[in-house]
Amino acid sequence: MYKGGTPPRWRCRHPIRPVALRRRYPRLHVVPRSAVIIEDDSPIRRVLRHALESDFDRVLEAGTATAGIDLVAAEQPSLVVLDLGLPDAEGIDVCRELRAWCIAPILILSARHSDTEKVALLDAGADDYITKPFSTAELQARVRALLRRASIGNAPSPRIEFGPYVMDLAGRTLRRDGEIVHLTPIEWELLRTLAVNAGRTLTHTQLFGAVWAGRRYGDAQQYLRTHIANLRRKIEADVLDPRYVVTEPGIGYRFAGTP
Ligand code: CA
Repeated sequence: MYKGGTPPRWRCRHPIRPVALRRRYPRLHVVPRSAVIIEDDSPIRRVLRHALESDFDRVLEAGTATAGIDLVAAEQPSLVVLDLGLPDAEGIDVCRELRAWCIAPILILSARHSDTEKVALLDAGADDYITKPFSTAELQARVRALLRRASIGNAPSPRIEFGPYVMDLAGRTLRRDGEIVHLTPIEWELLRTLAVNAGRTLTHTQLFGAVWAGRRYGDAQQYLRTHIANLRRKIEADVLDPRYVVTEPGIGYRFAGTP
């Protein structure tokens, strides 16, 4: 534990709350974390601000798409919360524009919830979506999951553990109770893509883009289904009731192995 003297300088990659950390160790150097809310409805902005303040040092707000994009460019935040119904632009266009240059996770707020729309949003680069009305607890849980995922990608030698399995991302191995599980390169890539995005629904197009770099192989969805079925046979206890690689009907797949 840090007990005074010269504070160690280290970057906070762990999703521990920087606000709480700084309060506890006032001389510790913690990289500040900020969030940008793009939403034209001010009562909802207030609710969002209140929900985000415990996890972020700064919460900034914009009421229009134009102001929001400027704010994200200036602030380079750790999270963007984007409402779909904005007065000056379609939320999905804003999402696409942000994704072109912004690496922060984008959480979409939406009043609509058709599968087609969800697929379009995820394909446009959104990391997750939450439907209005939402509870503060649900929003905070989604946000923490997004931050946790962002930190996995930054870790120097990441390992992902789920059930009896350990994935060594650097060594490209999967072990079950210490024994190697043999996966084909495609199965490994599918599992890796799903696992580093744990909790997030990836569309068929996104998985295809990540694993096959967008090359077309006839019926892409059927091709994907076949490889997912093979992967499940190797890692799931019951392929008919999968615990780790879960189907999101009409949308894609989600990894449910880690909290
Ligand atoms: Ca709105």
